[in-house]
Amino acid sequence: MSDVTKEQVVQALRQVQDPELRKDLVTLNMIKDIQIEGSKVSFTVELTTPACPLKAQIQKDAENAVLAVEGVETVDVTMGANVPVDKKIENLTIKNIIAVGSGKGGVGKSTMAVNLAVALADCGAKVGLMDADIYGPNVPTMMGVEALPPTPQGKKIQPAEAYGVKIMSIGFMVTPGQPLIWRGPMLHSAIKQFLMDIDWGDLDYLIVDLPPGTGDVQLSLAQTVPLSGGVIVTMPQQVSFDDAARAVSMFKKLEVPILGVVENMSYLEMEDGSRRRIFGEGGGENLARVAGAPLLASIPIDEKVREGGDLGGPVVVKDPESPGAKAMIAMAQSVAARMSMEARQ
Ligand code: ADP
Repeated sequence: MSDVTKEQVVQALRQVQDPELRKDLVTLNMIKDIQIEGSKVSFTVELTTPACPLKAQIQKDAENAVLAVEGVETVDVTMGANVPVDKKIENLTIKNIIAVGSGKGGVGKSTMAVNLAVALADCGAKVGLMDADIYGPNVPTMMGVEALPPTPQGKKIQPAEAYGVKIMSIGFMVTPGQPLIWRGPMLHSAIKQFLMDIDWGDLDYLIVDLPPGTGDVQLSLAQTVPLSGGVIVTMPQQVSFDDAARAVSMFKKLEVPILGVVENMSYLEMEDGSRRRIFGEGGGENLARVAGAPLLASIPIDEKVREGGDLGGPVVVKDPESPGAKAMIAMAQSVAARMSMEARQ
């Protein structure tokens, strides 16, 4: 029996596609470090995000393809990830900046931003969360952090950290209970400072929780940050075409690719398994159509989600088996996959 060669392994892996990027793993340059010892083969598959929804499938496909090579008896596949860099982001150690916005308040925008950040970090990504919601900076409460740690002398400002996510919030800069009054220039310099003067370290993703709405404040704020992609959160009520169009046009004006739409509070799961659509239906789909972007997820109404927010323990890690958490973990994977696809273009 002849020895297994590297060429045979590479050839076999040419048959394995990344179902999302629709190319084979070799063409995508994802195969690293092939080692062959007799009948034993090992290699690494380097994905474009550690939060890849198809990680397990790709691993199995790669393993099976190489097991089919004559002479191979065992295959050891290590799954790695190297998140591609958005070239728009200069002078920062951040690879991608993803904004979470909504046409109006109270739709669960901050809840989505928080759970998106925590779910990505839980997958092994390096994640930061910047709370730019001047009207209701809820991120500190939802993440269970009260203040920034002290800044060591002569060093950059240290972000707070919880659940593996680095956090900066406009809420850290005001006294609790005091209304926030930010004038344009002040707001801009604060946000610029958040970006430049905070010691974020290396980040795969910085998630930005934008203020709700699509007016001038949101537009100019979003202009201050080099955004790689935007996620729009909405609810199932039939949004008017005008509302939808405004939410979409904000990102379009900024030339920020819309990664997709998340519909929150889509349904309530009943004990018999049926779904009650308390807030109607169709809002997410309509908005996605107007945006020309996918509806990435429909998140159920789940009291565990609200509890997690109130108690400062995001549900995706506190109760990952709850329906709300499962849907948000899938949402985070879809956002990461869409970001990878955008970044490769
Ligand atoms: P926004 O940022 O859009 O103003 P929030 O994220 O603050 O909205 O959410 C508003 C309220 O709704 C919070 O109390 C939050 O816990 C709750 N909430 C959000 N999404 C859900 C959900 N899917 N199920 C139950 N409660 C939710």
